[in-house]
Amino acid sequence: MKNIVLFGPPGAGKGTQATLLKDKYNLVHISTGDVFRYNIKNKTELGILAKSYMDDGNLVPDEVTIKMLQAEVDKNLNGNGFIFDGFPRTESQAESLDKFLSEKDEKINGMVALEVPENLLIERIFKRGETSGRPDDQNEEKIRNRFNEYQTKTAILQEYYEKQDKFFGVDGVGSIQEINKKLQKVFDIL
Ligand code: ADP
Repeated sequence: MKNIVLFGPPGAGKGTQATLLKDKYNLVHISTGDVFRYNIKNKTELGILAKSYMDDGNLVPDEVTIKMLQAEVDKNLNGNGFIFDGFPRTESQAESLDKFLSEKDEKINGMVALEVPENLLIERIFKRGETSGRPDDQNEEKIRNRFNEYQTKTAILQEYYEKQDKFFGVDGVGSIQEINKKLQKVFDIL
C-alpha cells in the first residue's frame, strides 16, 4: 500500500490536490473534515458532537477523531492505500495512526506538506467561504483560531515525520496544475 499524509495549514489546498491525486494513484482519500461535515449534515451523534468544536475553529477531541478515522480505514483495507487529509493533526493522533497501521502490517510512506504563506491562506479561505457555506470559513476570529490550533498542536508533526525521514515539503503557491505536478514527483517515489 501507498499511505500518504497530505499536510498543511487550513486553506493550503489539501482537499483540492487530494481529489486529483487519489484518481491518479488509485488511492482512497480520507478527509476527516469531510467526514465530520457529512455527519453534521446527517445530524448523527458524532456530527452533533463535532459541530460545537468545528464551528468555533477548534480541533475535535482526539478520542472521537481517532475512532472515526480507524473506522474509515477499516472500510477500505483492500485498496491500494490512503491519502490522509486533515489527519493526523496532533501528536497523539500521529502515534495512534502508526500503531494502528503497524497492527495491519502497514505504515505511513511519507508526509507531503503543502507550504503556503499565511496571508495567501487567509485570502483563499475567505474566498472559499463565499461559496462553501462553512461557518468556520466566514469569520476572521474563527479563521485565526484555526491557525492558532494549527501552530500550537499540528505544526510539530513536521518534526515527528522528519525524525522518521518521512517529511517532504512542496511549494503550495502557483496554479492547481503546477502544484499537482510537484506533488506527483514526490508521490511517485513514495
Ligand atoms: P481546514 O484544513 O481547511 O481547516 P478541514 O475540513 O480539514 O479544514 O477541517 C475542518 C475542521 O474539522 C477543523 O477545524 C476541526 O475542527 C475538524 N477536524 C478535522 N480534522 C481533524 C482532526 N484530525 N482532529 C481534530 N479535529 C479535526
